[in-house]
Amino acid sequence: MAVEQTLVLIKPDGLVKSLTGNILSRLSETKLVIIASRVLTVSRELAEEHYAHLKDKPFFDELVHYLMGDLHHTHRVMALVYQGEGAIAKVRQIVGHTNPEEADPVSVRGAYGRITTTGVFENVVHASSSTEDAEKEIKLWFKPDEVVGDIYPTREIVITSVNERVWA
Ligand code: UDP
Ligand code: MG
Repeated sequence: MAVEQTLVLIKPDGLVKSLTGNILSRLSETKLVIIASRVLTVSRELAEEHYAHLKDKPFFDELVHYLMGDLHHTHRVMALVYQGEGAIAKVRQIVGHTNPEEADPVSVRGAYGRITTTGVFENVVHASSSTEDAEKEIKLWFKPDEVVGDIYPTREIVITSVNERVWA
């Protein structure tokens, strides 16, 4: 089996419901290695880019608001990269089917997901579904130096003038 990387997001419902520990424990069953993690506020641009493949769906706008945290009165998502043999399938197995009602009840989505009255699947976690998606998603959510190891080729650029926020 090939060594793969996969992006996991604990979506705002997972954080608000205090499921972080449970989800990380379930994922640790895979014996995969965490090579990156961050907690962040998701911008509209990031949410729209992450779900760009669904932009023509009727639920796209609500999905973007969901990932931004607007439905859960929080503005946090936890992003992680897991690495190891068959990482994509191993994580998807534990995460479960996209629709929480169709998901195995012992999967994360089966146990904790729900469908909103407007029909959006609040399914607690995201997990990449192919190596192509994983690469695109990891590059979207992390910079090279935020990931342990050289997983994809990088290049150096010279930045002459930057405004950076520092602690006051
Ligand atoms: N989604 C939804 N209704 C659908 C399909 C998708 O609400 O009919 C949401 C759901 O939150 C899902 C996300 O859109 O996790 C991304 O959809 P995708 O088809 O990529 O499923 P995933 O890879 O997350 O299982
Ligand atoms: Mg997907």
